[in-house]
Amino acid sequence: MRKPVSRRAFIATGLGAGAAALARWDTRPDVVLYNGRILTMTAREPEVAALALAGSRVFAIGTSEEMLALAASGTRRIDLGGKRVTPGFNDAHSHPCDSGVALLTQVPLEMNSIEAVKSAMHTRASATPPGEWVVGFLYDDTKTPRPLDRADLDAAAPEHPVVVQHRGGHTAFVNSRALALIGITESSPSPPHGEYFRDASGHHNGRVAENAAEAILALAIKPPSREDFRKGAALISKQFASRGITSACEADGNPAILQGYQDARDAGELMGRFYTHIDFSALDRMIAAGVHTGFGDEWVRVGAVKLFADGSISERTALLSQPYAGLGDFRGISRASREALYEQARKAYLAGWQVGTHANGDVAIDTILGVYEQLQRESPRRDARLRIEHCTLVTPELVRRIKAAGVIPLPFAGYVFFHGEKMHFYGEERLRHMFAMRDFLDAGIKAAPGSDYTASPAEPMLWLRSEVTRADASGHLWGANQRISVVEAIRCSTVHGAYASFEEGIKGTLEPGQLADLVVWDQDLLTVDPAGFMSIKPERTMLGGRWVYES
Ligand SMILES: [Zn+2]
Repeated sequence: MRKPVSRRAFIATGLGAGAAALARWDTRPDVVLYNGRILTMTAREPEVAALALAGSRVFAIGTSEEMLALAASGTRRIDLGGKRVTPGFNDAHSHPCDSGVALLTQVPLEMNSIEAVKSAMHTRASATPPGEWVVGFLYDDTKTPRPLDRADLDAAAPEHPVVVQHRGGHTAFVNSRALALIGITESSPSPPHGEYFRDASGHHNGRVAENAAEAILALAIKPPSREDFRKGAALISKQFASRGITSACEADGNPAILQGYQDARDAGELMGRFYTHIDFSALDRMIAAGVHTGFGDEWVRVGAVKLFADGSISERTALLSQPYAGLGDFRGISRASREALYEQARKAYLAGWQVGTHANGDVAIDTILGVYEQLQRESPRRDARLRIEHCTLVTPELVRRIKAAGVIPLPFAGYVFFHGEKMHFYGEERLRHMFAMRDFLDAGIKAAPGSDYTASPAEPMLWLRSEVTRADASGHLWGANQRISVVEAIRCSTVHGAYASFEEGIKGTLEPGQLADLVVWDQDLLTVDPAGFMSIKPERTMLGGRWVYES
């Protein structure tokens, strides 16, 4: 058994619990969870049967007998019935608040037929005054028999400007009214760092990417209200808790989103912990307020400053050294020059920020890694934990440099499985070096995977299925050399997730002093065939000692 934390040891961890809470720690646990199969994710005692909890934290771990012996008359004793328990999962890169706001205001298009998409957009347009924007999201162009195009959206809503966002967040599909409204004609060239795609005859087909999509979305989407952000944060945190996710990195936040999480927390509606990256455009305001990475508490914390180097994997705009398969000479889209990335990263780095740069393709990863290496040479900083968000396509040399620079990659957790039908654009050989979890772990790199929700589902069992099997939905294997074990995958989405936000001292493992964030699963992850992982569901989710989800 690991002894209950003494008052002195607990204070030494510097976790800032109040004096009143500390007094109780010298007495008895509030709750004992016993008769479980609890994966602690610690090296010393990987599996225990019971946990004693005090307040929001784990108080002691050990056998059922040992923990029950600590109980007093007021202690709640909860029989886990032999169920598997893990620490709460950490979605180390996702977009919860924006997704929540979108769920409240836009048309969800998680559909596999063009007709269904058209019909949903038509229905919303019918209820929208002519001339006003109709906005859809969660569409995925490879889940329909062919991609949506301008003519589909003209037919669905001829009286309205329409924009449908791809679930990956880097491309969108627009109708003719939308193009006319922003002054795009057939002779308009694509903007820098963006693209208006054209059909075989050279006409705009309505697909727009990166800066071209950003410009349209900035026009189409009304700035959400403070209330919208609060509701969005609350809604998504509840969904995440029901899937076993108790922590997430909000990967492209800003002051309004930060406020949304805080408002939801103040209202008692926040069911998870959110490490909130801040978009570079808001960095000056944050610096002026005297804030940098780490400010906040275990519920809502300021994360890294967010930069973008290239495009998307699911939408085939990542910046690659070799062309995509079947797309001519297309090699993706750069989002910023090296000079711009250096200036942005330097400003944040020197102000004490962690930097998290979106980079998918090997060319983009090489560029931002070079910037990070330069910054650390010029102004060495201990334990900066600079992040490469996604870090999808690597080479042995890039992996070596990532390790040497202490950089954290945040790979897509579920893409081989969920986006399997897109993998042919990359091809078998390239997949041997994509979402390279095996290579990262073998090199001693603390890779922390994420869903990038809405880009793929925020569902831990889907992540594990993808990482452990490297099989797509049809059973085809993509880069089987990158397989990791179930326990490794759990460690990456708990321990490494906490490390990526400098929070390994408070969460990610279940041991004395850590937050009591955990999931009771209805089946045992360690004995079910990984092909059947999608049938495993959380039975209950606990956040800080309180059940926030019960099936
Ligand atoms: Zn993202």
